[in-house]
Amino acid sequence: MSVEGEGDDAVAKEIAEHPFGTPTFTGRSWKMADVRVLAPILASKVICIGKNYAAHAAEMGGEAPADPVIFIKPNTSIIGPEVPIVRPPSSERVDYEGELAVVIGRPCKDVKAAQAKDVILGYTIANDVTARDQQKIDGQWTRGKSYDTFCPLGPWIETSFDPSDVELVTELDGEVKQRTRTSLMLHDIGEIVEWITRIMTLLPGDVILTGTPEGVGPMVAGQRVSVTVNGIGTLSNPVVDKA
Ligand code: MG
Repeated sequence: MSVEGEGDDAVAKEIAEHPFGTPTFTGRSWKMADVRVLAPILASKVICIGKNYAAHAAEMGGEAPADPVIFIKPNTSIIGPEVPIVRPPSSERVDYEGELAVVIGRPCKDVKAAQAKDVILGYTIANDVTARDQQKIDGQWTRGKSYDTFCPLGPWIETSFDPSDVELVTELDGEVKQRTRTSLMLHDIGEIVEWITRIMTLLPGDVILTGTPEGVGPMVAGQRVSVTVNGIGTLSNPVVDKA
């Protein structure tokens, strides 16, 4: 699907094949108001940057490391807009982390920072949901970051977008909890792509979460969390407890 126009005039146009490269269209289209938006991509992997804003590193009780710290969320944690984030009974503290996300457009390895734009399809919004208590208990992050529904993604991939200095805001029940500008990232997107592709091959559709700013905090059942990136849109999800 490709979305054109804004607000009530927005139209979803069906893409014939895949969204990578220059898409071709089937000719079928719908008003956005009549479309349920799913997660914009099923990544083969989601690579996340930890502590990429100094103020967040400080609130976590440490300094930001010199090199990027990375970890992976499984693709089974991805959900789309409006799908509930499910809090597992094993955790007493499940946090939101609003983040700008990068979507990779072609297979790549050993990409230099200056060439990162060439391998990026576009940008979307993510919530790096975290069982904070389990992250601390385990000393590494796989369990606390990997529950099903812990990676809301969307609402769509913006392909005409300059990510270098935009506002990111996270709201919980309409109250602003996080507010930053992406220019405050310690490692910019070029550096991040260079760092990750020094380690692993990235495939079309792979997603990079660029780190969360200060203001992380818990969510409880019945609340709604929304992450807005100026120039992309808003990713909003309700929160429930696992039945
Ligand atoms: Mg994060």
